[in-house]
Amino acid sequence: MTFSIHGLAVSRGVAIGRAVLVASSRMDVAHYFIQANEVDAEIARVRAGRDLVVEELHRLQLSIAHMGPKEATHELSALLDVHLMLLQDVELINGVKAWIVDRLYNAEWALTTQLDIISRHFDEMEDAYLRERKADLEQIVERILRAMRGVASPVAAPKARAGRKSGQQDLLLGDTVDVPLVLVAHDLSPADMLQFKQSVFAGFITDVGGKTSHTAIVARSMDIPAVVGARTCSQLVRQDDWIIIDGDAGVVIVDPSPIILAEYGFKKRQLELERGRLSRLLNTPAVTMDGEKVQLLANIEMPEDAQSALQAGAVGVGLFRSEFLFMGRRGHLPDEEEQFQAYKRAVEGMKGLPVTIRTVDVGADKPLDSSVYDDAHLNPALGLRAIRWSLADPAMFLTQLRAILRAAAFGQVHLLVPMLAHASEIHQTLAHIAQARAMLDKRGLAHGPVQIGAMIEIPAAALTLKLFLKHFDFLSIGTNDLIQYTLAIDRADESVAHLYDPLHPAVLQLVAATIAECRKQGKGVSVCGEMAGDVMLTRLLLGLGLRSFSMHPAQILAVKQEILRSDTTRLEPWAQRVIAAEDPTLEMTGVAL
Ligand code: PEP
Ligand code: MG
Repeated sequence: MTFSIHGLAVSRGVAIGRAVLVASSRMDVAHYFIQANEVDAEIARVRAGRDLVVEELHRLQLSIAHMGPKEATHELSALLDVHLMLLQDVELINGVKAWIVDRLYNAEWALTTQLDIISRHFDEMEDAYLRERKADLEQIVERILRAMRGVASPVAAPKARAGRKSGQQDLLLGDTVDVPLVLVAHDLSPADMLQFKQSVFAGFITDVGGKTSHTAIVARSMDIPAVVGARTCSQLVRQDDWIIIDGDAGVVIVDPSPIILAEYGFKKRQLELERGRLSRLLNTPAVTMDGEKVQLLANIEMPEDAQSALQAGAVGVGLFRSEFLFMGRRGHLPDEEEQFQAYKRAVEGMKGLPVTIRTVDVGADKPLDSSVYDDAHLNPALGLRAIRWSLADPAMFLTQLRAILRAAAFGQVHLLVPMLAHASEIHQTLAHIAQARAMLDKRGLAHGPVQIGAMIEIPAAALTLKLFLKHFDFLSIGTNDLIQYTLAIDRADESVAHLYDPLHPAVLQLVAATIAECRKQGKGVSVCGEMAGDVMLTRLLLGLGLRSFSMHPAQILAVKQEILRSDTTRLEPWAQRVIAAEDPTLEMTGVAL
């Protein structure tokens, strides 16, 4: 039966494919595809984990047997029996095996997927006793996962499906039919998204997340349709269901009828044609009708993204989110050499164009490692995040700064610092940069000059611009966080997503004042938050005087098209009216400029 689910539209386009469910269990595991020749090793890894748990439970049973009659409860012993029995459960064992063999899921993904399926069966049971066995099953799967952490994975890195090229969207399913796949999950960490980036999904759906959550941002950077905040989608959709994602409307259609399928097939082709038309603008300079030159830069997450930045016609990288090199590493952070090589790859990849490397910004919805994420911090977005995290760990910060300064010997590098708010943080940051340089001199290692910039993403920073302009060469407005902190809206929380408003007068006034002050002082200013890539806002930002936009490569051509059709002499007075309006959204609509 066809039904639709509404969520938030975060990445444009239409995707049609079969659902691949990522287990919604609270167990946080890595999800990636293995190669066909790794199947046996992966099954052996689950077996080894299970054997360890069996041994552990037998040892526990023995210790119970040696306890006195008072401590040795029958219940405890019976519970261990149940757990041992569940470890032999055919549905669990065969199911896990099938996910690994047929779908090439890594062992942890296979285990949690099968757990999810069996859990649903338990939920449907009439008998309360049997229903409660679900908790036992979860416990043993958790034990296996824990045991497996001690068993080294033979799989070095996430890969695309065996025998298929990375990025290819058709792939061989277990049932030997070639169809695109759509990923459905309760939540995906940005690190997970990054793994899937090299993978094969035609679209993403998550139950949670806001428009500028980092999961949504990575989906956009992959330029594939995505819907987040789809509430209970992962519970309503079943493995292999046919799904349509309408990334423009934020709608998910499950089990579509042939008529709906045909309609969306048509829409998909239209969008492809539109994309083809836009590609003609690739080599056209971004200049407005009245001759104002505009710089269109790319936001990237990994050094390899430099290639798509160049392909999209970016004239540099305005934001390299370096934290993606640090995430999902299970405690082993990249050392100076590894970081240096990564930054150098990005710099060389951009072939002489400038690369803005932002120092690490972990925390909030970008935990370093979600499996060890500390829930104790109730307000992670207000906690030890970004520069606060770097200043709290000077050795780690100096390592990153040295790596960036070394990469600057190979091309134009700008160093960008996130989340600054206090004068003391500015002074400490600059002192660390000087110290990193002195350390390199002492070690006789080459390093290059960098322009140093600050992100304006906390209202306090936007309200003390003079301090920032005194110390920095350029500013970059991080509107995602600026909106979050100005309006007190968690950017990752879908339940308040309707209040997350880039056009709130307070936000617009902070953005406008920052651009105006930088221009007055002749300092460079760009916007690198999601507002920069939103074509609905291009004219407003131009009217406010912005001439440097940084966005995902996939958005560059559409923004360029808006720029080519704009006349800033007409936009400027209009933009001033918009920011002064009680309801800027109303002022924006219906005006042909
Ligand atoms: C921002 O806050 O606008 C920004 C660009 O940084 P991030 O989205 O990585 O927090
Ligand atoms: Mg930010």
